Amino acid sequence: MSNEMKALVKAKPEPGLWMQTAPVPEIGPDDVLIRVHKTGICGTDIHIWNWDEWAAKTVPVPLITGHEFAGEIVELGRDVDDLHIGQRCSGEGHLIGQHSRQVRAGKFHLDPETRGIGVDEPGAFAEYLALPAFNVVPLPDGIDDEIGAILDPLGNAVHTALSFDLVGEDVLITGAGPIGIMAAAVARHVGARHVVITDINQDRLDLAARVADVVPVNVAKQDLKEISTGLKMKEGFDIGLEMSGNQRALDQMIENLVMGGRIALLGIPPGKSPVDWSRIVFKAITIKGVYGREIFETWYKMIAMLENGLDVRNVITHRFPVDHYRDGFDVMLSGTSGKVVLDWGE
Ligand code: NAD
Ligand code: ZN
Repeated sequence: MSNEMKALVKAKPEPGLWMQTAPVPEIGPDDVLIRVHKTGICGTDIHIWNWDEWAAKTVPVPLITGHEFAGEIVELGRDVDDLHIGQRCSGEGHLIGQHSRQVRAGKFHLDPETRGIGVDEPGAFAEYLALPAFNVVPLPDGIDDEIGAILDPLGNAVHTALSFDLVGEDVLITGAGPIGIMAAAVARHVGARHVVITDINQDRLDLAARVADVVPVNVAKQDLKEISTGLKMKEGFDIGLEMSGNQRALDQMIENLVMGGRIALLGIPPGKSPVDWSRIVFKAITIKGVYGREIFETWYKMIAMLENGLDVRNVITHRFPVDHYRDGFDVMLSGTSGKVVLDWGE
């Protein structure tokens, strides 16, 4: 194995990413070295590509980017004894500490000291990735590398969708981005009655209909109330999953929820946005913020669901060899794609 590798690096504080040669990372006693096979491009990577305000204040330069990956273990740290060379894996990209109250209570995903690979620490857009063995998630044979490479965002969808009991419930999802679409598939899989997904981008709604048995609604043209009446819903949606980060979508969700309805918020609004709290109070609505994935309960459940019929493959709309990464970012920037997967070879 050469001690150099290809990596996609935020090399300069300006828009773009650059393919560079970097040293293969060294691993500590509790880490593994992973040969990356496939990676997913995330909305976060687009922020980093664009070098927007958030990226400029968050991401150190230079940094190897990327956090959605699948690959194979090629080296074990001295103290790693529960994994093996050749093990196919994905992994949790949030690196956590051991000191906070929540971590010590076993709630790893709530660690305030969380650091993200590809955001704060060297990432997965590279031929090799060093990762704590703790973060590794082995992949069963039935889950191939391209699905393995989108488990991170599928995990966001699963974490959000499983925030509340959806069995027999009417679910409204605002935002048919890749995560909203996958959440819709999960909601169907776990037994929701009606799943309605909204967007203002028709391409995305068409994609949603190709991935899951859902009712797509273009809220720029269609009236959501009419649709829900047509579905014989009398008092509104029981559960809302907000996956757009758009203020108007949240307003519309609150408007269309039943009394005592529940909302899980994954979408990240660009800045402060005004909220009509009195409507939330008078409707007795519960709101839960959702960050990342539950470590490792979300991983366990999503792999179990994938092995038991959950099918999100159609959310992957584009695949490129990594040398064509610019095409991948272009199609993501167009706003009409689903997930875009880059192939790093084997
Ligand atoms: P995305 O940007 O691809 O999708 C958002 C969709 O919302 C777009 O298709 C957009 O057209 C749509 N939209 C805009 N206005 C709308 C409106 N008024 N009504 C309905 N839809 C509208 O995003 P994604 O990658 O699918 O991620 C979804 C959201 O989750 C984003 O806000 C992202 O930042 C956030 N996110 C949060 C976490 C977390 O840990 N909390 C993790 C990943 C992503
Ligand atoms: Zn991601």
